[in-house]
Amino acid sequence: MKVGYVYDPVYLKHDTGQHVENAGRLEAIISHLDRTGLKEELVPIKPRAATAEELSLVHDASHIAHIREAAHEGGGWLDADTVMSPDSYEAALYAAGGLIKATEAVMDGEVDSAFALVRPPGHHATAKRAMGFCLFNNIAIATRYALAKYKLERIAIVDFDVHHGNGTHEAFYDNPGVLYTSTHEYPFYPGTGDESETGSGQARGTTVNIPLPAGCGDDEYLAVFERIIVPVVRRFNPRLIMVSAGYDPHWDDGLAMMQVSISGFARMVQIIKGLADELCWGRLVFALEGGYNLNALAYSVKATFDVLLGKTDIADPLGKSPHRFGTPDIAPLIKRLEAIHHLV
Ligand SMILES: [Zn+2]
Repeated sequence: MKVGYVYDPVYLKHDTGQHVENAGRLEAIISHLDRTGLKEELVPIKPRAATAEELSLVHDASHIAHIREAAHEGGGWLDADTVMSPDSYEAALYAAGGLIKATEAVMDGEVDSAFALVRPPGHHATAKRAMGFCLFNNIAIATRYALAKYKLERIAIVDFDVHHGNGTHEAFYDNPGVLYTSTHEYPFYPGTGDESETGSGQARGTTVNIPLPAGCGDDEYLAVFERIIVPVVRRFNPRLIMVSAGYDPHWDDGLAMMQVSISGFARMVQIIKGLADELCWGRLVFALEGGYNLNALAYSVKATFDVLLGKTDIADPLGKSPHRFGTPDIAPLIKRLEAIHHLV
C-alpha cells in the first residue's frame, strides 16, 4: 500500500499569531509522524503553487485579487475569525496546489491514497469570500481540477470536520457530478447545512447535510456513516473520493462539543477507505481542515495514515471521552435523512 503525504514549511508562513489555527498544528503533526517513524513509511509529494486559473475554478477574480492585495499590504483581519500575514497568500496558493498534487499522485497511480497536510484550511471559503480561517477552498478547487483534467463523471466529497463546509456545499450545490456529504454540529458555526438542503435542479440529492446535535460520539457518528453516508456514496458510485478531514469533533477539542475519539476517527476512515476500495480502485485523497487540540490532532492524523496503510492496530493514547453526560438520541434524525434521501 503506497500512501503519499504533502507537506512543506511554506505552510508555516501563514502566520496567525495567537489564533487557534496556527502553525503549531502542522508542527505537532509532523513531529509526531517523525517521532513514531511513520514518515518513513509514506511517499512524500512535493506541493506547488496553484495558478490563478486553477483558483478561478472556484473563486471570483475579485476575491483572488483581494487576498493577494491583503497579503501585499501586510495582512490583517479579514473578518472576526480570519486573519492573514504577508506570506499567507503564498501559503494559500501552496495549500490549494498541494491538494492538486496529492490528487494527481493518486489519479496517476503513483500512490494508492494521499493526505495533504496543508494550511490555511479551505472548506468555509466561498467563491467570493474568505471566512472561518479559510482563504481559498482547497478541496473544491482540487475536485473541479480532477473533474476537468481526468474527465471524471463523479467525485464524492466526505466532510467530517465538525463545522459545515459551507463553501464546498455552495460550490457544488447545482453540480450533479459531485456528491457532498457533511457531518457537522448544528446549530453551530457557520449556521448553514440544514438537512432539507439537498442540491438543486439536476443535482437534487447530491448534497447530503447531516446536522448533528452537540454531544455526539463514536456511536452516533458510526451510525450515521453506516446508515446514511455508505448507502449514498455507494448509490452515487464515484470515480474518486475526496475527504475534508477535520479533527475538531474530538472530545478534547476546545472549539466544538462533540465526543469522538481517535479510534472513532480511525473507524470512519476505515469505512471511507472501504468505499474507495469497493467503488473506485481505492482512489482516496484527504485534505486537512480543522482540529485544534494539538495532541488529538497529531494522534488522529497518524491514525488516519495507519488505516490508509492497511494497519488494524490503531493507537488511541487519549482514549474515550471521559465526559459522563448522555449522548443525544439521533434515531429520529437518521429516519428523517433516510426518507429525504430515499434510502428506505
Ligand atoms: Zn472545523
